[in-house]
Amino acid sequence: MARELIRRSLPSGRIARVVMSEITDGDAAGGDVTIGGPDDVSATGRGRERLWTWLHQVHGDVVVVVDAAGGHSGSRADAAVTALVDAPLAVRVADCVPVALLGDRSVGVAHAGWRGLRAGVVERTIEAMEGLDGAPPVAAVVGPHIGPCCYEFGDADLDDLADRFGPAVRSTTTEGRPALDLSHAISGLLATADIPVTVDGVCTSCDDRYWSYRATATARRQAMVAWTEEACTGEA
Ligand SMILES: [Zn+2]
Repeated sequence: MARELIRRSLPSGRIARVVMSEITDGDAAGGDVTIGGPDDVSATGRGRERLWTWLHQVHGDVVVVVDAAGGHSGSRADAAVTALVDAPLAVRVADCVPVALLGDRSVGVAHAGWRGLRAGVVERTIEAMEGLDGAPPVAAVVGPHIGPCCYEFGDADLDDLADRFGPAVRSTTTEGRPALDLSHAISGLLATADIPVTVDGVCTSCDDRYWSYRATATARRQAMVAWTEEACTGEA
């Protein structure tokens, strides 16, 4: 059952929503995900469902600016931003970090594994949001991803990332092996930009609601979806 990670009024008065799918909601790798409920949104584009923007993710730093619902679907990119209402943006993950950014009136999503982080995908997404809003994002959400408990990481790459993101990225697995803490890398970046962040804290490898590439080498994915809605403007 999909989980709403955040629902918040933006400074512009719009409502931003960020929802995370689970295994029971379908496989996002094929775009076959439905997030049900009274405000039904779905990837299929049928009926009253909204069109989503899906990306062809390549662990890079390219950000697309979406100016029509479902626009830029299939683009080789790892982040998307939009100032449109009712234009859901999706990233697909199975251990990598799904990040959502909320702006004055815009939203953005980024797919941030260690390669994308090193490439600067989070910084590029923040810049793109500033381009839309004329101000930095006001909040961020870090969704479920592989935790250091399960993310053994090679020493050389860990050194490289600690140089870039600070020593807090070094951690250990539950078995005592060197591990990468992706949340700390992203939280550090966002703190530098003065953007408050909510970290979900769920490990995709430990928690059986989610697919984990590390755990099972699966090709299946869950999705983080973010969009804005106009707020209700009063009594009818
Ligand atoms: Zn874990």
